[in-house]
Amino acid sequence: MHESLRPRLAFTLIELLVVVGIIAILVGILLPVLSRVRSQANQVKCASNLHQLMLGTMIYSRENKGGWYITAGDYSNDSLESLIPTYIKDAKVAICPGTKNVVDLRATATETVTINGSPVVRTYNPHLRKPADYAEDDRGGHSYEVFCWAGKAQYPDGVTIAADYLMTYKNVRRPAETFLLLDRDQGAFGTTNNWPEKIDNHGERGVNLGFCDGHVEFADRAAMVRAMLISRHPWPRESNDLGPALAIVKGLHNSGGWQGKWWFQ
Ligand SMILES: [Zn+2]
Repeated sequence: MHESLRPRLAFTLIELLVVVGIIAILVGILLPVLSRVRSQANQVKCASNLHQLMLGTMIYSRENKGGWYITAGDYSNDSLESLIPTYIKDAKVAICPGTKNVVDLRATATETVTINGSPVVRTYNPHLRKPADYAEDDRGGHSYEVFCWAGKAQYPDGVTIAADYLMTYKNVRRPAETFLLLDRDQGAFGTTNNWPEKIDNHGERGVNLGFCDGHVEFADRAAMVRAMLISRHPWPRESNDLGPALAIVKGLHNSGGWQGKWWFQ
């Protein structure tokens, strides 16, 4: 029998290489799509977390005499202890799904505070008190920052605030435009503070902002700068943060320093 009349049982090497090549191309097309879908899913889940945290702050603000949304002693304080677990039982709400951050409700540390002139030892949860350093940080710490203080500065809309003050539901001017909680942004390790970058929860794309009326918006860099200034946060607080902001936020000018006068043109 002639060779060519035998039934073909196997692929030739060329056919195999073509198939492998097509699969490689398909994988190359699909992987970026899958990673984009995953990061968008993380963004949506994170927005849901922030929405729940904001609802917690709204209830808390009505229940304490001062009307403050969240207990944070100063600008640098990012504690979620006043919300979790009293108002929100699930600690997962404190974790942005775009991160490897960890919050364990059983974590404890002690501190000595002075009450009526006497030292008192208290326990607290270090994971709820402080945010993690960056998205990959799994050493214990939540994923969000608290911006509940209005800062001393002159703002683009002409308003001047003479001294920092704690925002409450009674004194907040425009709750739907004033955010209180946002994705943690890292300002150490040679990165710029309050500026979404690779090591942050959603990378360079932006951050989720939780507003005082409970709604959440995803803001890119430019939208974040505007939201900060409208929310009365004198951004950027450090002069080395000016460069990237001025380059990207069209029409934003500053007369110098974080307490300087801001304006848009
Ligand atoms: Zn997030």
